[in-house]
Amino acid sequence: MSTVPELFGTLVFNDSVMKARLPKDTYQALKMTRENGKPLDPQVANVVANTMKDWAVENGCTHFTHWFQPMNGITAEKHDSFISPMAGGKVIMEFSGKELIKGEPDASSFPNGGLRSTFEARGYTAWDPTSDAFIKDGSLCIPTAFCSYGGEALDKKTPLLRSMNVLNEQALRILRLFGDQKTQRVNVTVGAEQEYFLIDRKLFEEREDLIYTGRTLFGAMPPKGQEMEDHYFGVIKPRVSVFMKDLDEELWKLGILAKTKHNEVAPGQHELAPIFTTVNVATDQNQLTMEIMKKVAAKHGLSCLLHEKPFNGVNGSGKHDNWSLSTDRGINLLEPGDSPRTNARFLLFLTAIIEAVDTHQDLLRLSVASAGNDHRLGGNEAPPAIISIFLGNQLTEVLDSIEKKEEYKGSQGKSVLTIGVDVLPNLPKDATDRNRTSPFAFTGNKFEFRMLGSTVSIGCPNMILNTIVADVLCKYADRLEKAKDFNYELEHLIRHVYRDHKRIIFNGDGYTDGWVKEAEKRGLLNLATTADCMPLYRKEENIKLFEKYGVLSRMEVCSRCEIQMENYNKQQHIEALTMEDMIQKQIFPAMCSYMKMLSEEISLKKQIGAGISYEVEETLIKKLSSLSVELFHELEALKKAVSGEQKITDVEELCRYCADVLLVQMEKTRAVADQIEPLVGKTYWPYPCYGDLLFSVN
Ligand code: ADP
Ligand code: MG
Repeated sequence: MSTVPELFGTLVFNDSVMKARLPKDTYQALKMTRENGKPLDPQVANVVANTMKDWAVENGCTHFTHWFQPMNGITAEKHDSFISPMAGGKVIMEFSGKELIKGEPDASSFPNGGLRSTFEARGYTAWDPTSDAFIKDGSLCIPTAFCSYGGEALDKKTPLLRSMNVLNEQALRILRLFGDQKTQRVNVTVGAEQEYFLIDRKLFEEREDLIYTGRTLFGAMPPKGQEMEDHYFGVIKPRVSVFMKDLDEELWKLGILAKTKHNEVAPGQHELAPIFTTVNVATDQNQLTMEIMKKVAAKHGLSCLLHEKPFNGVNGSGKHDNWSLSTDRGINLLEPGDSPRTNARFLLFLTAIIEAVDTHQDLLRLSVASAGNDHRLGGNEAPPAIISIFLGNQLTEVLDSIEKKEEYKGSQGKSVLTIGVDVLPNLPKDATDRNRTSPFAFTGNKFEFRMLGSTVSIGCPNMILNTIVADVLCKYADRLEKAKDFNYELEHLIRHVYRDHKRIIFNGDGYTDGWVKEAEKRGLLNLATTADCMPLYRKEENIKLFEKYGVLSRMEVCSRCEIQMENYNKQQHIEALTMEDMIQKQIFPAMCSYMKMLSEEISLKKQIGAGISYEVEETLIKKLSSLSVELFHELEALKKAVSGEQKITDVEELCRYCADVLLVQMEKTRAVADQIEPLVGKTYWPYPCYGDLLFSVN
């Protein structure tokens, strides 16, 4: 048994491996590429590739793959072996710089949202040297970006990398204004907490809905759900514990800093949190984490459900995106400082985030929109679909007093805060000052964006967050660079921005109806579904924003919007068909055999003679047959709703139809089936029930 430090990163071609194995000048050249984005000389790339290959082969690899993240939300890989033929019918293992840097998978079978018609079907993958190569299943995996031949991004990584650079540029301008000449790079740091469910694999395999859609489309509540609140942070059950231990080890080998694990609110629900890292690495690692979770679960006879809402009636799963900015010298820019200057800097970044979130509520909302997450947002568990910021009372008071030029009555007594001159009062990072209902919460030295769904890549929300914050910082830098009196202008700016955007700040309970009304009064957006928010992606001002910074071109925005809507429509379509299938092939037959048994029972009792009651059987049969008629009608209506899709050719219109017609009909259909389930004998019911699933792992 090796120790954790021995195990950690053994499957990663990381900085230590590079340093140990590469010639010194090659290592230095690669380091420059990794840190400053300098292009790599082809000669150097050859040396790197060869060293990587030797290392991979020593670790049992036979193949390599460019590993990328197309718009279908999962990762893609195409494996090539290292073999190269030699005279005498032999082979050697080879890997060139060219193969490392660029790959050419056929792009035509990946979602491209209309880019295909105007561009070639071919696409290419390009090495992202800032994310380490790693070994998975005997293949050397090289993290890459995926583009069309015209250079259009076809993946989640490319725009994310662009947005990181844009934010770096604008944040540096701000730092220079504060007299910081040393910082060369500002990085976005992210820690993504991942929620998931574990159920027994055998039970999973018995449910068509889980297999095809990742969530249950039917299911009555069992006698016990999450009402006892006995699962959150509860003792981890032995089988889960063995799984988690194995998972940690697999992640550590891949250099993923898996740190915290605990039970979540719903039975069968758990969470894993890594230590934060640079956002593009965090994004790659979160994709890997989800993949490894599924694999390790299968090894233990379990199934890991990553869907946002696998079960009605108990909490769904999300992903908390902890986001901050950090300089190359390790300074967290969202950490309130202990000098007037660092405090002023903190307040400026904070103000920028407040303005960005308020101005671009639509973009943040759509960055987390998906068919799965629609079932979660707005329920009484996840944040509501309304975007707001939680700052905590103390920080809000500070900003209020700045706005009103009033005395701040903090712990140090009364004082008027003068930005750039005074020190902020101590802001305690108090765990009790947490608000679990807020979609976007300040947690002491970072923001926690809580609306992300558990399945989706964190790439898009972070790309959008980076871009909107960069845009506001750019505006501030333009203004402050011209200022005659920096401190005066700074204070003025913070005061006015806060006054104009403080409507986005809400420290109360986001789950109440009161908040929905209040938010409406404040003019905040409440975009309930994907159909409501996704079309806003291609609003002219949003396109202009992405274009201005070169994060996404007009074509790319439109294609992304299109792909997201298509995904949504397809998901709903598959769910509707699965429902039909389960009703016809499973639920109706089960009801029939149960009713047949009951009627046989009645005949038997009748044969035996007078005095024997068959009232129970008869009542049950009556109830069930009337429900089966109801279910039949709902099924017919569902079929009609599905065929209605065919008449709609416009993707956006279809999105609307899915949300307003198809989904509504699916819910009505489900409601009837869920009344039937508790009435039918367990041995007759065709698939495992909620109770079986939720409490299946011990
Ligand atoms: P909790 O939210 O449970 O109190 P923490 O605040 O310690 O736990 O961290 C939650 C997540 O936030 C972890 O993944 C952690 O690595 C991440 N995190 C902590 N600091 C930062 C930061 N500066 N930037 C980004 N993520 C961070
Ligand atoms: Mg958290």
